[in-house]
Amino acid sequence: MRTGSPEPSALHSIARKHEDGRMTTPTDGIGPKSRALNEITARLFPGGVSSPVRAFRGVGGEPPVIASAKGALLTDVDGREYVDMIGAWGPMILGHGHPEVEDAIIARIKRGIMTGTPSPDEADLGQLVVEMLPAVERLRFVVSGTEACMSALRLARGATGRNKVIKFEGCYHGHADAFLASAGSGALTFGTPDSPGVPPDVARDTIVVPYNDLEAVKTAFAENAGEVAALFVEPVTGNMGLIEPGEGFLAGLRSVCDEQGALLVFDEVMTGFRVHRGGAQALYGIKPDLTTFGKVIGGGLPVGAYGGRSDLMAQIAPEGAIYQAGTLAGSPVAMTAGYQTLSVLRREGVFEQIAATAARLAAALADEARAAGVPATGLSVGGMMGLWFADSAPSNLAEAQATDLERFRRYHGLMLDRGVHLPPSPFEAWFVSLAHDEAIVDRILTAHRDALSAL
Ligand SMILES: *Cc1c(COP(=O)(O)O)cnc(C)c1O
Repeated sequence: MRTGSPEPSALHSIARKHEDGRMTTPTDGIGPKSRALNEITARLFPGGVSSPVRAFRGVGGEPPVIASAKGALLTDVDGREYVDMIGAWGPMILGHGHPEVEDAIIARIKRGIMTGTPSPDEADLGQLVVEMLPAVERLRFVVSGTEACMSALRLARGATGRNKVIKFEGCYHGHADAFLASAGSGALTFGTPDSPGVPPDVARDTIVVPYNDLEAVKTAFAENAGEVAALFVEPVTGNMGLIEPGEGFLAGLRSVCDEQGALLVFDEVMTGFRVHRGGAQALYGIKPDLTTFGKVIGGGLPVGAYGGRSDLMAQIAPEGAIYQAGTLAGSPVAMTAGYQTLSVLRREGVFEQIAATAARLAAALADEARAAGVPATGLSVGGMMGLWFADSAPSNLAEAQATDLERFRRYHGLMLDRGVHLPPSPFEAWFVSLAHDEAIVDRILTAHRDALSAL
């Protein structure tokens, strides 16, 4: 169902995930009930969805409408079952309906859903985050990753008295105005808005440079000396597909920020508790000034957070003058989901099992593809993985765009028909959970072999 008009503008990295909604899928396998519901939602919601990438515009075809989820499996309204490689875009690191998480949420609901007062649940989750990430000395809970990044930027600007922000091409930091800017074709130009509705004056303060290019970062700082409040980075990228930071890249960013008096902000909304128990900052041994969270921190309920140096966090209202607030922030039920999820994740062997599954799956998928004559590169970082149809892994957005995207689109449809629900875009990481056991991995590999023969 393509009743909506195409996206009005290219939303930079985001848009690339769902540009070209007119693609035809190799097979169009969704069932009649999903199809009927998609017709209704197309009338109700822009693109039929509550968030753009869910609409399958990056791959063509229509999404199955999911009625329930358990473990590593999704079941759609037609009763078809899929192995879930989306994991709610990251949060479901323990799989769906983990008994301890489910029980804790239900018990908490019975004691009241929301009071808008301090609750013990905030302290529990806050304490756990601070223990797991030593660079986060204090934090503030919000309800989404977007809000976390937007608030961290305000704090950086307020604390430094500077306005500009440097970000990387293809990195996503939520949909706040300041982050919806790209450099167009050339690096190091000032941002132009990537979406109608973003004032050019706002975008102008955003400087966009290519990922993994430390020289470009240095040049950007040199050209804007004394004006840059913060540099935001996805320390491992997920929003242009899985791309690893090159040797010394993150450490280089740390030094440049120190030299320039700018704050280094790790956007760990996706990587936090996902690439390592202690996030990318633990994996690569870098201490950012501020960190943003979302996704896993809420275990599937709406939680975001930003935190870091206590001298910076002391500047947030009501202790300091930088204002940020939220009616539903710190929801006890959401705090409970996050606390239980992180508590299980912390247990001996749990994270290791998830990471080992991701590594084995990424390697096996790429090996089988190459054996079938399809150029492919698999990679994983902790519980995040990716499969690129290319001879080597890309290191930035331009290289990611040069991989075989058309092949991914076909592959996605073939896998969906064979009961594996991959993220509907070549520019998304895949998420492995604790529930992805041997049997699930075998199911994925069987579907993969079969898809390769039709690819
Ligand atoms: C998902 C994501 C966001 C935005 O989080 P929302 O909860 O969708 O608002 C920001 N940054 C990164 C790195 C993300 O992956």
